[in-house]
Amino acid sequence: MHVVITGANRGIGRALLGRYLDQGEHVTGTCRGTPPTDGAWVMLDVTDHDAGQKLGAGLDGQAVDLLICNAGVYLDKGENLADGYPAQMWADTFAANVTGVFQTVQGLLPNLQMADNAKIAIISSQMASHEHAPGGSYIYRASKAAALNLGRNLASDLRPLGIAVGIYHPGWVQTDMGTARAEITVDQSADGLKARFDALSVATTGCFETWDGRQHPY
Ligand code: NDP
Repeated sequence: MHVVITGANRGIGRALLGRYLDQGEHVTGTCRGTPPTDGAWVMLDVTDHDAGQKLGAGLDGQAVDLLICNAGVYLDKGENLADGYPAQMWADTFAANVTGVFQTVQGLLPNLQMADNAKIAIISSQMASHEHAPGGSYIYRASKAAALNLGRNLASDLRPLGIAVGIYHPGWVQTDMGTARAEITVDQSADGLKARFDALSVATTGCFETWDGRQHPY
């Protein structure tokens, strides 16, 4: 199995990469800076306008069985409604969390179609949900809602090609983004997510699930 993980140099992406390597899978991680020494790496900033083409070229015709769209940013922590949330922050967040996901999927469609029963996992968040709306973090919430919407519509378009798409809340995780105060460790999140990806199929395509296997309200 060939697994491709965006933003695999730290946090949840890094923990997922380690698990697939331990299982003996062929894993390609993407990163923006100096790549770690384990696994294969493609240098990629998902906000580049030609990110999809760069990633496709970097994989050089290899089939991809599982694409994990993990790279993301949370830039508007602590912004206030009265005078915060500047336009550039909206643009930067959507470039990474929405356009970046779409470009990654688009760039790897030929590679995914070369595999049998290929899967795409989009790491969104519980903050994508319309039913979980406590206020605040407007930019991040909107971007993750858009990523959920992308995943739902990609699931419809890709079902006839036999490609399954799942959307996931990884938990509130102890990473740079989640902070040390978060509820679960990165190992707990990665173990749970990996089990979800294993279970994903065209029969469950379009699902929105938590790291520990619960259906998440849309
Ligand atoms: P981290 O901040 O720890 O890591 C983010 C990763 O994304 C890094 O590898 C980073 O690379 C990469 N990345 C960010 N922007 C870009 C870009 N433009 N191009 C390429 N790579 C980029 O975050 P987590 O591991 O915590 O989060 C992973 C995913 O899980 C994200 O999508 C996040 O939104 C989501 N999530 C996390 C939660 C949590 O509690 N931690 C909760 C809900 C969702 P670099 O090192 O170069 O910055």
